[in-house]
Amino acid sequence: MLHSLGQIYPDLDIASHIIGEPITVSWESDPNFMGAFKNNLPGHYRYQRRLFGHFMQEALPERQRGIFLAGDDVSFTAGWAEGAVTTALNAVWGTVAHLGGESSPGNPGPGDRWSELAPITLD
Ligand SMILES: Cc1cc2nc3c(=O)[nH]c(=O)nc-3n(C[C@H](O)[C@H](O)[C@H](O)COP(=O)(O)OP(=O)(O)OC[C@H]3O[C@@H](n4cnc5c(N)ncnc54)[C@H](O)[C@@H]3O)c2cc1C
Repeated sequence: MLHSLGQIYPDLDIASHIIGEPITVSWESDPNFMGAFKNNLPGHYRYQRRLFGHFMQEALPERQRGIFLAGDDVSFTAGWAEGAVTTALNAVWGTVAHLGGESSPGNPGPGDRWSELAPITLD
């Protein structure tokens, strides 16, 4: 990269501005790495559905309620920002419901429409 930038900006000594050794941390070195944008492998569907739907806690035992996760790790479309945002909305809805609140009339949240829009359940 420094070589290429030197071709473009021959009068600029970019290398002299580097104050430390660059470190590369590859997610490919992470334990259980499964590749980018394909977190779900065959057989994972039921687990991902449970993670994604964990914000619906009515059927959970009382002692398992009250923790809400958001982001890539519980997303149905892991590896895409959209999933991070939608799971955040789910977690907010779950938290509100857990604390006894509810959506504004006419503006249903994800949990209000879960029964009609949820990912299908496998046998
Ligand atoms: C190379 C690359 C390209 C991508 N391109 C696209 C794209 O084109 N379009 C798209 O939609 N998505 C893309 N994505 C995916 C997108 O970036 C993620 O889906 C999204 O950022 C996930 O958001 P998140 O909030 O769940 O997690 P993150 O954005 O990973 O946020 C997690 C945060 O938690 C912090 N954190 C971790 N541990 C701790 C701790 N112990 N204490 C405090 N903070 C902590 C981290 O520093 C980080 O800021 C790309 C991802 C990568 C890596």
